Amino acid sequence: MLPVYQIIVPTPYAVGPVNVYLIKDKPVTLVDVGPDTPKAEKALREMLSALEVNIRDIERIIITHSHPDHCGLAARVAGETGATVFVHTLEGRKLKGKQDYFKERMQFVVETGIPAEVVQEITGERDKLPRPTLEGVRSQEMSGSETLEFAGGELRVMHLPGHSPGHLCLYDPAQKNFFSGDFLLPHITPNPLMEPDPERPGRRLPALKQYLAGLDVVEKLPVNMVLPGHGGVFNDCRGVIEVGRCHHRFQFDRIKEKLRAKELNAYQLSKEIYPNLKGWEIFLGLSEVLAHLDLLVEKQEINCAHRQGVNYYTL
Ligand SMILES: [Zn+2]
Ligand SMILES: [Zn+2]
Repeated sequence: MLPVYQIIVPTPYAVGPVNVYLIKDKPVTLVDVGPDTPKAEKALREMLSALEVNIRDIERIIITHSHPDHCGLAARVAGETGATVFVHTLEGRKLKGKQDYFKERMQFVVETGIPAEVVQEITGERDKLPRPTLEGVRSQEMSGSETLEFAGGELRVMHLPGHSPGHLCLYDPAQKNFFSGDFLLPHITPNPLMEPDPERPGRRLPALKQYLAGLDVVEKLPVNMVLPGHGGVFNDCRGVIEVGRCHHRFQFDRIKEKLRAKELNAYQLSKEIYPNLKGWEIFLGLSEVLAHLDLLVEKQEINCAHRQGVNYYTL
């Protein structure tokens, strides 16, 4: 049996605190590590010592995905402890290269029909935290079919993209515990963020299609307890999956309803659905709308016409 402890770490983001999980077995392992802030680092160190683990004892850090609230402290902790950081190849790419986040996504943003001043509003709001990096850290890339061994058990690695292209979840087959990262959360549905397809330049990954396919996979897993990246642990895995599906059905219907009345681009749709977003939130709203539009186009439920650099949608 794997002894698992939840450590709640503060973040400066609207999502609230992030959960780090300590697996106090051989090798001593952290699942996610928290954001790179002094407050988060203090909370992590204090909780580890309350659990009688010295930060130097950490041998392995598993990153669910590359968002800064989950992995910002990875390089600092791994640098201090010599731990190996395990990460999916697609997330490792973001943490090792020198990608420009907005540059990689700008074509998609422009195609939504967004006014130039609103692009400025999004790109002008810099992240509160430095971009996480794994430069100089010993890391091991995974594809999602691995099993990570412990003295007292194992964790199966599952690749469940959609919120992030290389998002990993972990499954403990003995206790039927599912470490869900941001894939399943008790209180919100994760954003199917717009992501460039690394294999097909200029194209987006089908984030929502990938995400919904993942829900079908996890629904078949026997799960006792879900250990999410944010919020409390919960038992009703299938219930939360159904709430997620419901949310997306509602969004599909809402978008089709708006398009029944008139032709709209993705920016106009996001303004109608989310009229009050500011700064970075505008990007999140666009991602949510685009992901649903992409899938509706693929299912031939709506049409997309490209005119003067902007995509327009009709029912
Ligand atoms: Zn995330
Ligand atoms: Zn998160």
